[in-house]
Amino acid sequence: MTQGQRGLLRSLNTQSRCKVWGRNAIWINGTIGADYRRLLGGYWAIHLCIAATCFSTFVHSVASGLLFDKNSSRVLSAVSLQTTETKMNMLRNNRREFLGTSLTAGVAAGIAQGGFFSASSHAKENKKLGVALVGLGGLSTNQIAPGLLNASLCKLTAVVTGTPEKEKKWSDKYGIERDHIYNYQSFDKIASDDSVDIVYIVLPNSMHAEFTIRAAKAGKHVLCEKPMASSAADCRDMIDACKAANRQLAIGYRCQFEPHHVKSMQIARSKELGSIKMIEAGFGFKIGDPKQWRLRKALAGGGALMDVGIYALQSCRYLLGLEAKMITAQETKTDATKFAEVDESITWLMQFPSGVLAYCSTSYNFNGLNRFQAFTDNGFIRMDPAFGYTGARLETSQGKIEFKEQDQFANEMDNFAKCILENQTSKVSGEEGLKDLLAIEAIYKSIETRATVEVES
Ligand code: NAD
Repeated sequence: MTQGQRGLLRSLNTQSRCKVWGRNAIWINGTIGADYRRLLGGYWAIHLCIAATCFSTFVHSVASGLLFDKNSSRVLSAVSLQTTETKMNMLRNNRREFLGTSLTAGVAAGIAQGGFFSASSHAKENKKLGVALVGLGGLSTNQIAPGLLNASLCKLTAVVTGTPEKEKKWSDKYGIERDHIYNYQSFDKIASDDSVDIVYIVLPNSMHAEFTIRAAKAGKHVLCEKPMASSAADCRDMIDACKAANRQLAIGYRCQFEPHHVKSMQIARSKELGSIKMIEAGFGFKIGDPKQWRLRKALAGGGALMDVGIYALQSCRYLLGLEAKMITAQETKTDATKFAEVDESITWLMQFPSGVLAYCSTSYNFNGLNRFQAFTDNGFIRMDPAFGYTGARLETSQGKIEFKEQDQFANEMDNFAKCILENQTSKVSGEEGLKDLLAIEAIYKSIETRATVEVES
């Protein structure tokens, strides 16, 4: 490894430190991020600034859940749209502080030295890896494209859309030239587009497999939104296609790049509060428009469980670092018309090989469920709210643990770019996505058979 590459890795792997607000107010080491001690001076100033500019109401509202977008009938009012823009700027600043100038210097030095394993000629020309977004709906528009502006190792270079009106809008906003705009039919031509290293699939769930496989065949690395696909069989096909093309595959599990979640995992796995004995986790929201694709089985694959229950399921898996063995589940529908094709509300119980039980829930029919709590030998680890784009709160039996807000999408995309540059497998690989789908299929099977089901491995 060259000195430049070492510089890049050092800056990306910098250990973070955070303050534990509790009885003993001690310093502890985190697992990602930059030197927080350097940043604490600005910490209270930023909070005062938030109060002074009347953001507190907004911050409070986003703290209780996702920023809801129009297509999924999640609420994104004109006011919150404005504040989203401002909020993105804040996250951008936090991230700049977080990464510090050393990252930029490290990247520049690393790329200048050349020799990155799987990077295209694009990266070797001292440029960021290029990303093509496939599907320009709510998530791409409001989170991913702004997140890419915050990324250090990659940038938006192409888009794929089935809506011609979006072409000019995206071209004007992000400076994408016509040659780098595709539709779903012309998508395969992306193979000869040297500005694209990574294809990011942000389409309805049942379309993930087709576009992942086409992207791999076009010689591109693939980042695919969650859930990975609508069946475990499709997940396996996606993994095989990326392996055959010698391309990387990762799933958009953004929480795994959010500092409070990373800290929770570290506390859980290091057993510093003792072993986990039981976990409770849940995520849901009240879905609006009854005509949207999320309520059509052919496009969504399933309902609340596939869309948001997957966050609760995955939090249990990553806190324990284990896979569930046995699952028992029940479903209820209070609106049989709206939820005729997909699940409305589900609770499920998972038993892990260590003997830990996890009881989880999800719903498309009410707001407010957004948390996990792990009970340990000597205390607890709790995130509430847990799974939103912003506003995560972490508390353990020893006190609150606070990190500055960060752009989860920028972190996720930079991590994938880093994996490509280093030829490392992502911690949110296709195999991880498959494990979630195997558990989800066991949940649906348990509902159908009214029996406890063994999870396929
Ligand atoms: P959306 O409805 O806002 O956008 C979907 C996009 O797909 C639109 O641009 C639409 O035009 C396009 N599309 C192409 N073919 C379509 C078809 N046959 N029917 C409907 N739309 C079609 O959805 P979204 O919220 O952007 O979700 C897209 C993906 O991202 C989903 O897999 C979802 O689970 C995932 N997602 C992830 C997060 C996260 O936090 N990681 C959040 C929201 C959504």
